Amino acid sequence: MLVVGAGLYGAVAAHRAHKAGKRVLVIDKRSHIGGNCYCEEHDGIFVHKYGAHIFHTSNKDVWDFVNQFVEFKPFLHSPLANYKGEIYPLPFNLNTFEKLWGVATAEEAQAKIESQRLHLDREPQNLEEQALSLVGSDVYEKLIKGYTEKQWGRDCKELPAWIIRRLPLRFERNNNYFNDTYQGIPVGGYNPLIEGLLEGVEVRLNCDYFSAREEFDSLAEKVLYTGELDRFYNYQFGALEYRSLRFEEEQLPQADYQGAAVVNYTDRETPFTRIIEHKHFEDRGVGHTIITREYPMEWREGAEPYYPINDERNTSLYAKYRALADAESKYIFGGRLAEYRYYDMHQVIEKALQLSL
Ligand code: FAD
Ligand code: UDP
Repeated sequence: MLVVGAGLYGAVAAHRAHKAGKRVLVIDKRSHIGGNCYCEEHDGIFVHKYGAHIFHTSNKDVWDFVNQFVEFKPFLHSPLANYKGEIYPLPFNLNTFEKLWGVATAEEAQAKIESQRLHLDREPQNLEEQALSLVGSDVYEKLIKGYTEKQWGRDCKELPAWIIRRLPLRFERNNNYFNDTYQGIPVGGYNPLIEGLLEGVEVRLNCDYFSAREEFDSLAEKVLYTGELDRFYNYQFGALEYRSLRFEEEQLPQADYQGAAVVNYTDRETPFTRIIEHKHFEDRGVGHTIITREYPMEWREGAEPYYPINDERNTSLYAKYRALADAESKYIFGGRLAEYRYYDMHQVIEKALQLSL
């Protein structure tokens, strides 16, 4: 079996195939394994090279599965929002509402939202309608609109409503960004997890499938492809759109920069969306710190396609490619890129564990 992509999906599938007695070759065009979960150690700080990755799941099978390979340190993700210098706790909860309006109870917060909420007698048609009907105009203007438009490079009216439903909305005091039962950060970063999954499996790095497609195909009975599906089919129906990112890393001499792993910059003018301070994932008492500014950008050929843009145009274009994919017998497809889905890590693992090999 040939696995194209040494990200989490490819690594879980390769692990299973290897365990089932198949000969497996994994290739990746990058110079490292782990895809977007990859970390780099700098003097005891584990730098999440492709943005902050917090593991969370309510699926016990997935949790038990990953814990076979690496120990997880409990980690409660409580990012902050910085709107023009004003700091708000996230996700949207009573602590956020207190900071915004001085309210102290759930009833007061609900009354405030009710007074500025958008009242619809139909389902929200886009992210703006969804946000305004859920949380009202103050939260939307200060904490959602600018961030979302930077992140996606589109007006909130052109984005699907469900993107904002990823975030919890609570009327109690609880700054936990996720609702899941199990949450944590692997001790030593994500590399030990991926290394554990790929133990005993042949891996070739700096190896682009498309540089020698026929040769790679001839090596295997089955090919699992985890790259972009439109690329696989030579963009024959047109290119899918993605959102890309640029990461700017900086080492600073002080022990602490922002007191939290992630601070979101929710105004429209600041060009980056968030700053990550990696040592807050696992603090080994190092005297300096490393931060990464995350700048969203439009995807173009040569850039990394980090986020699928699941709007109407792309969804129907993807369906055409999917129909071709579903008719294949030698090739199977999975992961965030090949499925064009905004999957988190636990969802990718769940899917790769269900895959019939
Ligand atoms: P990828 O990690 O993208 O791996 C695909 C691999 O295939 C890559 O290594 C790529 O180089 C390789 N490849 C592609 N084409 C080819 C080719 N032609 N030849 C050879 N190799 C190829 N999830 C969470 O659960 N929690 C989080 O906090 C979180 N934060 C995130 C933050 C950011 C900024 C991003 C972008 C994602 C985040 N995620 C998070 C999602 C998480 O990264 C994904 O769910 C997961 O990494 C997807 O794994 P994958 O194997 O499908 O894809
Ligand atoms: N979002 C926002 N303000 C924030 C954080 C998130 O408006 O401070 C919106 C934004 O549209 C984003 C979506 O919520 O794309 C999902 O956020 P999440 O943190 O899940 O994004 P990810 O970590 O996947 O980039």
